[in-house]
Amino acid sequence: MLDTLIQHLTSFINKGGWALWSPLTIACWAVMLVVLERLYPHTPGQKLFRVGFWDDFFWYTLVQSAVLGWIIGAFIEWIDALPGVSRLAAVSGWPLWTQVLFFLFIHDFYIYAFHRLQHYNKYLWRVHEAHHSVRDVDWVAGSRSHPLEILINQTVEFAPIVLLGAHPDVAVIKGLVSACWGMFIHCNVDVRLGALQYVINGPEMHRWHHAADVAPPGFNFATKFAFWDWIFGTAYMPVDRKPAEYGLMSKNDFREGYFWQIWAAFRPWKKPWDSGPWRPAGVTRRIGETASGAAARANPAG
Ligand SMILES: [Zn+2]
Ligand SMILES: [Zn+2]
Repeated sequence: MLDTLIQHLTSFINKGGWALWSPLTIACWAVMLVVLERLYPHTPGQKLFRVGFWDDFFWYTLVQSAVLGWIIGAFIEWIDALPGVSRLAAVSGWPLWTQVLFFLFIHDFYIYAFHRLQHYNKYLWRVHEAHHSVRDVDWVAGSRSHPLEILINQTVEFAPIVLLGAHPDVAVIKGLVSACWGMFIHCNVDVRLGALQYVINGPEMHRWHHAADVAPPGFNFATKFAFWDWIFGTAYMPVDRKPAEYGLMSKNDFREGYFWQIWAAFRPWKKPWDSGPWRPAGVTRRIGETASGAAARANPAG
């Protein structure tokens, strides 16, 4: 009886494959982070149902990602079906995990570069501003991204996977890794990665990216691999303090509400709405440098 049950269960899981395991893993990961946030908060006092929680959870995480997933999938299928744009099958012969690592690596470099550009270009900043408007950065805060930003980033993420002829599981595994890593780097958990911070990005560095009390806040643009920031000199990781607050510097002009935030990207250009953090980076710590050492380098006179 038990044997039969286990057999049925195993065959059910095997049939489902990654498509079944992916949403299950994402849900379990989310529950785990919510529990850890309560037990070991990075910033004590943040509430689970904080301001904007339902916008981020319902509209951004559930509704927007489902609708955009469908649009991006249809768009990539359309590109793939165009005459002459057939599958290149360039990576088809590679082992599955080599394909996954390859796409993780190249997309992560793209995200680093594009994200950095978004903080310097006022038009691109407009579609990134919503992401920075969360004042209580937590496990679900990372989902707050303008639909145009998602359309650009996920098309660039998934089109090469399809067009280079990757295994169908690669897209699902990549989506799973992106979802879990995105929740991780924003979560309000007091994670201590130590020396791993030079390789893997986590909440210690990314929560500084969302800090509103440091000017100018142009640093820690990496999402998965922290080494991009260390290599290109945009890493910032003070060891002696944590951000005092999160969100936009022009916070009074940016509102809560999913539909307002979508419209906000197209609002008329008017100060002080656009005094957001799209300014050049200032003090950044270098590998092996202390926070005070970085401050002295940036401000030799004082
Ligand atoms: Zn940013
Ligand atoms: Zn973020």
